Amino acid sequence: MRCIHVSMRARGLEMASKDCVKVAVRVRPFNKRERDAGSRCIISMTSNNISIQDPRNPQNSRAFTFDYTYWSHSGFSRNKDGLFVPEETGGRYADQASVFLDLGQGILDNALQGYNATLLAYGQTGSGKSYSMVGYGPNKGLIPTLCERLFQSIRSMQDSRQCQVFFSMLEIYNEQVVDLLSKTSRSVSGLRVREDQQRGFYVEGLRRVPCDSAVQVEQLMDQGTRTRTTAATHMNANSSRSHMLIIIQLKQIFSKECITKQSNIYLVDLAGSERQRSSGSEADRLKEGTAINLSLTTLGNVISALADMTLGKKVVHIPYRDSVLTKLLQSALGGNSRTVMIATLSPADICYEESLSTLRYAERAKRIQNKAVVNES
Ligand code: ADP
Ligand code: MG
Repeated sequence: MRCIHVSMRARGLEMASKDCVKVAVRVRPFNKRERDAGSRCIISMTSNNISIQDPRNPQNSRAFTFDYTYWSHSGFSRNKDGLFVPEETGGRYADQASVFLDLGQGILDNALQGYNATLLAYGQTGSGKSYSMVGYGPNKGLIPTLCERLFQSIRSMQDSRQCQVFFSMLEIYNEQVVDLLSKTSRSVSGLRVREDQQRGFYVEGLRRVPCDSAVQVEQLMDQGTRTRTTAATHMNANSSRSHMLIIIQLKQIFSKECITKQSNIYLVDLAGSERQRSSGSEADRLKEGTAINLSLTTLGNVISALADMTLGKKVVHIPYRDSVLTKLLQSALGGNSRTVMIATLSPADICYEESLSTLRYAERAKRIQNKAVVNES
């Protein structure tokens, strides 16, 4: 049989579809600190609407609509004043499995069809980003479940396609890229981000580990997490201030049809969105604060510019190049990817400012239109 190679670009253009970034908001249970402080719940939900009340001015509340809004499945307890009672306000409880069905399954399906797919977690430190993405103990989060299902799908494929999976894990801290799977060094020196026509921005020399089981991925994630902690200690840093990216590359070879489909899944646990507070020396603090704000601020600027474009405003420049994070997320934001954001919140009045700012950020992200294509050659 003769193979006809259709260029990715040509095929891509034919099949490009515009779709908006999907946004889910998840509210975690009260934590001990909030309970001890007698915090009040300032969030309410009805179906996909979520409102936040200004604790200093209860008449003043802001409403938002997202693709999904969730209470957590447990941890809200009732006291005699009815303080921790979200049931009354409507909305939906979701455990890790239902969040996976809503968000993770779509990411996986898209990847299997040959689309790039991205999942981003955004929110203040302690609001549930890692719980949602990675999970703790038996409460497995989106990433491990997605990997389990990916290998299950591969094993149960009926056709003759061959699949290859590669796993990478990195951290962006102070605009430096650290390979969390690097065996050779726990180096803080950082890898370079390069750009080429075909691949766009990529991390030069990043380790890509071929994987054939979810157990192997889990081991790599543990290794990566340990390196992240070691690196943070080494740099006298706090890992909640770094961004963690997992890249899963899926290559599917259909030899009969002479087609190769290639998809990148980006799974991103962003640094805490709160304004950076003091720690370490003045110089470190300045350097760290600026660089971290640079990545998150630039992400915010990119999201705003793209949201403005959707609203029909004239936008001359989208500042992808201004930070490492936005370079690596270029295709995820307004480009060739199907993208989902999970924004995480505390329910408590003491987190009002940060929660409102997260909701505003998520609202802008929701407007971004991507142009995903099947990556086929
Ligand atoms: P982040 O990664 O945003 O800093 P974590 O995911 O580590 O925050 O969450 C902080 C704490 O809150 C953890 O102890 C976690 O188990 C708990 N938590 C977060 N989200 C949920 C949730 N949806 N349901 C139950 N517990 C949660
Ligand atoms: Mg975390």
